Amino acid sequence: MKSPANASGPEPLAVSVRGLSYQYPHAAEPALNKIDLQIRKGDCFGLLGPNGAGKTTLLSILTGMLAAQHGEVRIAGHGLGRSAEIKKRCAIVPQDLAFYPGLTGRENLEFFAGLYGLRAMDRKRQMAESTDICGLREVLDKRAETYSGGLKRRLNLAIGLLNGPEILYLDEPTVGIDAQSRSFILEAIRSLKAGGMTVVYTSHYMEEVQAVCDQLAIVDNGRIVLESSLAELLDQQQKVFDLTLSQEPEESQLSQLADLGESEVHGRHLKIYLNSSPASLDSLIERIRSAGLEPRQIQYGMNRLEDIYLSITKRELRD
Ligand code: ATP
Repeated sequence: MKSPANASGPEPLAVSVRGLSYQYPHAAEPALNKIDLQIRKGDCFGLLGPNGAGKTTLLSILTGMLAAQHGEVRIAGHGLGRSAEIKKRCAIVPQDLAFYPGLTGRENLEFFAGLYGLRAMDRKRQMAESTDICGLREVLDKRAETYSGGLKRRLNLAIGLLNGPEILYLDEPTVGIDAQSRSFILEAIRSLKAGGMTVVYTSHYMEEVQAVCDQLAIVDNGRIVLESSLAELLDQQQKVFDLTLSQEPEESQLSQLADLGESEVHGRHLKIYLNSSPASLDSLIERIRSAGLEPRQIQYGMNRLEDIYLSITKRELRD
């Protein structure tokens, strides 16, 4: 793959968006409403949000497929007017599978390498690298329509990697595939990031975003409702002590633990949202025991990204 531009260049950001708005013709509301966003080079950036939030519209503008109406967008330091420059540096792997099912994997890669205008030497190298990263070597000469759902997603990704992009946009790359293929794609994303690529990733799977992203933004109704580093976001969250007890707790036992924080009870399951970090886990368990409760299973940590997401968007997750 091409090495990414030097971070000490004129623009240290991969993507910079200011005041971006977009309204589809005849739509009552804007799909994007004064979006500000900054994505650092080399980060894996998670773009989250419920259906219809505006994620695909945003990716379409960032990749030059849709013209911005209001606001400023800079990609690797270039305005969107420099479309040839941007096309060279970026690739999008769309939500829908975008290859020819009647062609083999190899024929598809050759066809798209031709569209990118890669020279023979580059074409050979890029095809080999994309094939290896996506684990397609064994099936390269089979027709794409015979691939499993996971292999089809991997071919979609391999096509996106052919021009050795500095910035790779992935629109829900793991939707509808089995656990093995999903883990393969996540591993590929990690290794691309380790090689210096900036990855912008939309997904509805919070555990995936938590596993691969450094930064994230939550979009809702065309606005950014949260932008944060994953580490900071999880760190700021209230600590949760989650217990399965030997028996259902009584009101009098719960009242002895009231100073620890608010609690939620579902049968033998007790969840305490701690007011402050405990001196130690042992001291916390001791408090539970001294209230006459016996823990059978314990989980201590922060809220999962999914809980944070749901509390911010107040909506059900898709899938
Ligand atoms: P999903 O997770 O379902 O892919 P999304 O976050 O990508 O959703 P968008 O597809 O960007 O959301 O849609 C944002 C808003 O724009 C929605 O209200 C959608 O109905 C509307 N929209 C999207 N495409 C068009 C279009 N071509 N014409 C008119 N309205 C559109």
